[in-house]
Amino acid sequence: SKLKVGLLFGGRSGEHEVSIISAGAISQGLNANAEKYEVLPFYIQKNGQWMASDIAQQVIESGKPLEANEPNPNLWQFPSAAASVDVWFPILHGPNGEDGTVQGLLQLMQKPYIGSGVMGSSVGMDKIGMKMAFAQAGIPQVKYMAVTRAQIYSDPCVFPKLCDQIAAELGYPCFVKPANLGSSVGISKCRTHAELEAALDSAASYDRRIIVEAGVTAREVECAVLGNDYPKASVIGEITFDSDFYDYETKYTAGRADLTLPANLPDAVAQRIRELAVQAFQAIDCSGLARVDFFYVESTGEVLINEINTLPGFTSTSMYPQLWREAGIEFKDLVDQLVQFALERHTAPA
Ligand code: ATP
Ligand code: MG
Ligand code: MG
Ligand code: MG
Repeated sequence: SKLKVGLLFGGRSGEHEVSIISAGAISQGLNANAEKYEVLPFYIQKNGQWMASDIAQQVIESGKPLEANEPNPNLWQFPSAAASVDVWFPILHGPNGEDGTVQGLLQLMQKPYIGSGVMGSSVGMDKIGMKMAFAQAGIPQVKYMAVTRAQIYSDPCVFPKLCDQIAAELGYPCFVKPANLGSSVGISKCRTHAELEAALDSAASYDRRIIVEAGVTAREVECAVLGNDYPKASVIGEITFDSDFYDYETKYTAGRADLTLPANLPDAVAQRIRELAVQAFQAIDCSGLARVDFFYVESTGEVLINEINTLPGFTSTSMYPQLWREAGIEFKDLVDQLVQFALERHTAPA
């Protein structure tokens, strides 16, 4: 009989819309394997409420979110259709989805699910935890400092000193980021003390944990990883754009960024990036899939890791599936392999 795949999408993060588009593509990919899989869609509204069956299917088909009611935690209900799911395919981006929260729920249900477990997901989402793990694994990265919201909103006399300390340590330009987000939401590039103060204040509105990084002038390249205990790395893709950095608008406005596949890189550099991508995947104990993003400083030949995304964008034009297509794995075979890796991980001895 067919395996029932619970496709879980939408979610409470700012990447809700992207998740719907990713789910549409994955649904098609699973339906192209109709002899093996039956798709059961589950849509998480922006208010956190789960919707199954027809409503979820309509959201996938329209590609647009449902108008959500006010958040009401007392209304939270688990759809009964969830009981018949054999394997879960969460394609939620950002907090409350990519960060281990949903993975913990699926783990408790004792059902296999696509992608990383609780630790890989949560460490991959938190840029401070992620960078600590990468440092321990010896993976090169930019200099950074961790800051908390409490430090930013503490004594108004202390805050300017903190900014001075950051500037002395990291120099300008530097990048301020909420630790647990994606799609460049809340990220600022700072060139002056005043910009740094404003950026920290803004990032603190998104997250308790904030990271400040030394800015680097480099090409931006990405590598896809697929597998469990023997993960494989894809070819390398490059992103180019005219904006100051790869910000939200550049990511989601058609025509603002270009992908080059494969990136035009010396073989040794491409090979090094692939090795580092697998090391990063293993450093935080990922499984299934991840997209690892790097900076390539052409003048020095240096490769620095920027970050890992454990549930990367998965629309038909997203980097992750495109990198595998370039490597010869079609979209429908990619989603099939991901389901098989989820089953393999679930049945492996703990
Ligand atoms: P994603 O949508 O890939 O999850 P994100 O929100 O996690 O992104 P980052 O990848 O950390 O954000 O940063 C977004 C962009 O900001 C990068 O792609 C790059 O253009 C720029 N950037 C971030 N950090 C630095 C840095 N230290 N030096 C130079 N540019 C940077
Ligand atoms: Mg990210
Ligand atoms: Mg992301
Ligand atoms: Mg990124």
